[in-house]
Amino acid sequence: MELTAISSGPWHEFAARSLAGDALTRDEARQVLAAGPQALLPLLDAAFLVRQQTFGRRVHIHVLDNAKKGGCPEDCGFCSQSSRHGSPSGEAPIKGVDELVNGARRAAAARAKRYCMVTATRGPSSRDIDVICEATRQIKSELNLEICASLGLLTPDKARKLAEAGVDRFNHNLETSERHFGQIVSTHTWADRVNTIRLARAAGMTICSGGIVGLGESESDLLDLAYALRDLDVDSLPVNFLDPRPDTPMAAYRRVEPTYALRVLCLFRFLHPRADLRVAGGREVTLRSLQALALYPANSIFTSGYLTTGGAAPSQDLQMIRDMGFEIEVADSGDDASNHRAGDQSPSVPGSRSLPIAN
Ligand code: SF4
Repeated sequence: MELTAISSGPWHEFAARSLAGDALTRDEARQVLAAGPQALLPLLDAAFLVRQQTFGRRVHIHVLDNAKKGGCPEDCGFCSQSSRHGSPSGEAPIKGVDELVNGARRAAAARAKRYCMVTATRGPSSRDIDVICEATRQIKSELNLEICASLGLLTPDKARKLAEAGVDRFNHNLETSERHFGQIVSTHTWADRVNTIRLARAAGMTICSGGIVGLGESESDLLDLAYALRDLDVDSLPVNFLDPRPDTPMAAYRRVEPTYALRVLCLFRFLHPRADLRVAGGREVTLRSLQALALYPANSIFTSGYLTTGGAAPSQDLQMIRDMGFEIEVADSGDDASNHRAGDQSPSVPGSRSLPIAN
């Protein structure tokens, strides 16, 4: 029987260039997105080489808390929290500080590095800011978690208050290209989003910004998004895959193919070699049996589901990480590696900062 070697393709050269700080050209980026089934493993291997340089085999686990659900006045076409679509996922006022602190305790027990509080708003009210700031102060006094907030559009004063309270990172996704954005949202602009990203960074927070794949965008739109995020030099980059929500304008859209989703993640890794690249919303339903392979380009996942949809339980995600031979990285405490500060009786995470995973 004659054996045919799998062509290694240009992927390892792309990896070397990525690590040297060079951006792939748009033609090269298109090659990544168009790679055939034979190229998938060599492509993932090359993306892993880039991931490995900064993150080794470590995985960051993030936990989302929908701190204020539904009733949002904005009209993002993919979102089941928009009041323009009737808030099909339901509505609830902002949670209390105690409830958010309890959510952070659950995140720490799930071995999260980062706890992200999210509100469905155009921008945070003064009360929203007060609640998020007080919750952040209490969480940081008790738990060794990094704090992320995703609260919509900011003003300089609100950004400053969040940073002073100890919010480490602000999430505000570009979602798609500037050109395609108007097809998705009419109540604010792509430039509004870029402005908030700049305000959050100027206030001293690191930046989490990514997008959603499957919004009816063209390949050029996806490339524009990837390069725009590179220009913004985002610290953290969540790649979501549309999981169409009932009763939204995108309810009839189809999910992207799992191998395409993997190629997208490889492209984002090549263009963002040092970013905290997260395979985010839609992971389980889009990648299905291939989701473990996403850990080659991506170094981060959400566990315990998303804002309006369920997802894998922490035990399933820990099993996946262990089965792949990866390890969990918790927040850097500067003293020890526990998610919990001294004296706390909540379930703790023993061991060193990169944790071998218990059975
Ligand atoms: S601003 Fe956020 S919560 Fe509001 S509709 Fe858009 S995506 Fe949904």
